[in-house]
Amino acid sequence: MPRTVLHWFRRDLRLTDNTSLHHATQSAVQVIPLYILSDWKQQHGWTGPNRQQFLCGCLESLAKNLATLGSRLIFRSGSAEVELERLIRETGAEAVYFNRDYDPHGRAMEARIQALCIRLGIECHAYQDSVLHEPDTVLTGGGQPYRVYTPYSKNWLNLPKTAPLGRITTLGPPAGESITSLPLPTLAHWQLPDCTAQIPAPGERAARDRLKLFLDSGILNGYGQQRNIPAGQTTSQLSQDLRFGLLSIREIYERCMACTTAEQPSIQTYVKELAWREFYVAILWHYPHVFEQEFAPDWQGLPWPGSEADFQRWATGTTGFPIVDAGMRQLLQTGLMHNRLRMITAMFLTKDLHCDWRLGEAFFMQQLVDGENASNNGGWQWSAGTGADAAPYFRIQNPWLQSVRFDPDGNYIKQWVPELKSVHAPLLHEPPKNGQPLAKGYPLPMVDHHTERDGCLAIFAKHKAERV
Ligand SMILES: Cc1cc2nc3c(=O)[nH]c(=O)nc-3n(C[C@H](O)[C@H](O)[C@H](O)COP(=O)(O)OP(=O)(O)OC[C@H]3O[C@@H](n4cnc5c(N)ncnc54)[C@H](O)[C@@H]3O)c2cc1C
Repeated sequence: MPRTVLHWFRRDLRLTDNTSLHHATQSAVQVIPLYILSDWKQQHGWTGPNRQQFLCGCLESLAKNLATLGSRLIFRSGSAEVELERLIRETGAEAVYFNRDYDPHGRAMEARIQALCIRLGIECHAYQDSVLHEPDTVLTGGGQPYRVYTPYSKNWLNLPKTAPLGRITTLGPPAGESITSLPLPTLAHWQLPDCTAQIPAPGERAARDRLKLFLDSGILNGYGQQRNIPAGQTTSQLSQDLRFGLLSIREIYERCMACTTAEQPSIQTYVKELAWREFYVAILWHYPHVFEQEFAPDWQGLPWPGSEADFQRWATGTTGFPIVDAGMRQLLQTGLMHNRLRMITAMFLTKDLHCDWRLGEAFFMQQLVDGENASNNGGWQWSAGTGADAAPYFRIQNPWLQSVRFDPDGNYIKQWVPELKSVHAPLLHEPPKNGQPLAKGYPLPMVDHHTERDGCLAIFAKHKAERV
């Protein structure tokens, strides 16, 4: 049995049902917990203060939880490979434990860590943790990866699920005083500006409270009927907790399935959303080109002639389409956005403004607390009509109809666009007939949806014709 081992925390910032941490504690008398901060400064096209602030709070909470067990979370910064080697040498650790990450960067890093462990002659233990089923275990009868969601989800739903493990109770003695650690990180570490958004409370305790609320207060029970309504809480709001591993997917699944206060159809609908998350993990795993290019070969190289000025109006929530602006302002003010609004705003940017989906994808990643490469890329490509299981390009949602269907009383719009508070609800769902702004200071719709829809169809059709 190795005496000292390292547990490298990554996207698993919890003590309950943490597969790698559990196995590490079973195998050693001393487990040294480690988190390695990325060391990019100021500008990173795919992140921003909201998610990093949430991460800082989660790390603080994790460090406190570890301290109550008598342990000490070590912080280092820089390349994981370099820092792990340094810490292995300093501590004499005989093994490294971590949970797998499936995106291309995480995967490449794991390969380097495994090579490092071989070079140093120590054990390397990597575990399945963040998904119920790993990408290579949900395949077609012919052993191929799926390209569409429905058959993937049928297979995924039928596979046996692993039960959660308990909460760890000890990691053995803390790392000695000679093992240095950086202080708890703040946004200054990345030279980021302050986070001004009202982001969710970070940490494992807060995430467990959110799960309890979802299960016990009837939200899960109403999920089947209500989940597309953006006003009020109609969904679990657990995406940031899954993103950072504050909750385990096994526990969420098991507790939903066992929930006695929810009807089966709602539970099943919810579980199918969890399958969407893993579908996109699998897409990115099997088709990593989606990071750069359209998933569907037919649409690679499609032109996106939208202007920077139009993009800025979308990004600031000043398009003159109340439902679109409400979604973007919710994002700017909270670092989160309801799924229905993510679809509406993403389709508006790509289909009405003809801006490249990659611009929207990056902007969402900069803002979202739950920003996740696989789901975000999947959601953007779906909305742009270029992805796996994409809405066919000719099926373009009309933002006015989406608005009246999902926010008929304008409650959501009025919450996020306060200048429209006293506008009669039906007027929020159509271009102003009198050509006058709906309220002082609120812009007229920046485009005509029908004209832009035709323009979009023409761009797709031309590209298709030229490829033949
Ligand atoms: C353009 C676009 C971008 C998106 N970017 C992200 C992102 O960066 N991170 C992210 O976690 N989700 C993303 N989604 C998916 C979805 O919008 C969010 O997961 C959801 O809004 C989170 O709220 P919730 O936890 O209340 O979801 P619930 O409705 O309660 O769903 C439960 C869980 O299932 C998963 N899930 C639900 N819907 C989807 C979906 N369509 N795709 C993948 N997983 C899903 C999430 O983990 C979610 O927490 C995106 C969707 C679109 C259309």
